[in-house]
Amino acid sequence: MAGGAGFLGSHLCDALIAEGAHVLCLDSFLTGRQRNIQHLARDPRFDLVEADVCDPLPTTLERARVDAVFNLACAASPPHYQADPEHTLMTCVLGTRHLLRLAERSGARFLQASTSEVYGDPEMHPQREDYRGCVNPTGPRACYDEGKRAAEALAFDFLRAGRVEARVARIFNTYGPRMRADDGRVVSNVVTQALTGQDITLYGDGRQTRSFCYVDDLISGLLRLAAVEQRPPGPVNLGNPVEMTVAELARRVLAITGSRSNLVRRPLPVDDPQRRRPDIGLARRLLAWEPQTPLENGLKATIAWFADECRWAELERPAANDDAGQRRVLVTGLRARD
Ligand code: UDP
Repeated sequence: MAGGAGFLGSHLCDALIAEGAHVLCLDSFLTGRQRNIQHLARDPRFDLVEADVCDPLPTTLERARVDAVFNLACAASPPHYQADPEHTLMTCVLGTRHLLRLAERSGARFLQASTSEVYGDPEMHPQREDYRGCVNPTGPRACYDEGKRAAEALAFDFLRAGRVEARVARIFNTYGPRMRADDGRVVSNVVTQALTGQDITLYGDGRQTRSFCYVDDLISGLLRLAAVEQRPPGPVNLGNPVEMTVAELARRVLAITGSRSNLVRRPLPVDDPQRRRPDIGLARRLLAWEPQTPLENGLKATIAWFADECRWAELERPAANDDAGQRRVLVTGLRARD
């Protein structure tokens, strides 16, 4: 499991161990976190190797014989993947090559975590797997979008050549516990802003849409895709087809938290896709899979998790936008458990 200490990777480690697998977790801890896997540290079916998939794999992995290789190693939020774009692109290209070769040596199945970003700012809506996308190949998102497209190309080259049984999941916006509060994504931003009484930042006019999938649903889709006997015709979209504007998401979070944060506008990032919604017809047919968690339930679980991550106190704090003069504020910031 590459990227096993990340948001999705750590949930996948949990699910695989629950199924009785022995998991070898590889992570560079660039965006992955120890705390996501610390509960597995003493599990005899869990081993951790700290390494960067851009580098040749450590000898423990070179010699390992594995049944399945999951590649979830890559920074995935725009601020994180743009912080070192060269490294992001190399993670996708070199990292995928190293892991495909490991799968080839082991005769293992390979599952590549790809992304809805391969569709760019799509002209086809909803996005079906045969849509080839509208990606700006030289813009600030290109390191991730083009990196993931190259990783898909490599996986299918290995598959066509009969070298590896490769599967590619195109993952749409996913949220849930273990997201990083600082990863700059809309769900983590809005939830932490609502919980701490800060202004909610809407980029652009907030009318751009996304479709948000709860992490447990996504993990069950990944497991089914890795296990299904019938070879998919190509990549498989995994996501929740319920589409909404970013402003609507913010309103839902405000309603659940009871927060009185204000909505404020910020500039729309360059190349920010206007609409995004998966067509999951293929996943429904092939995997008998579709998301089960309503947004309300997923958001409640996510908000509860973020609230637990913070140390809270009720403080008297008169604030300009708070006529009662009382509100819940974060006093000590996020616990530094990393
Ligand atoms: N967004 C926003 N406020 C934020 C963070 C993001 O309005 O504080 C917008 C962002 O511009 C995009 C959408 O929310 O249109 C989803 O952004 P995110 O970074 O979560 O994912 P991605 O753009 O990769 O789908």
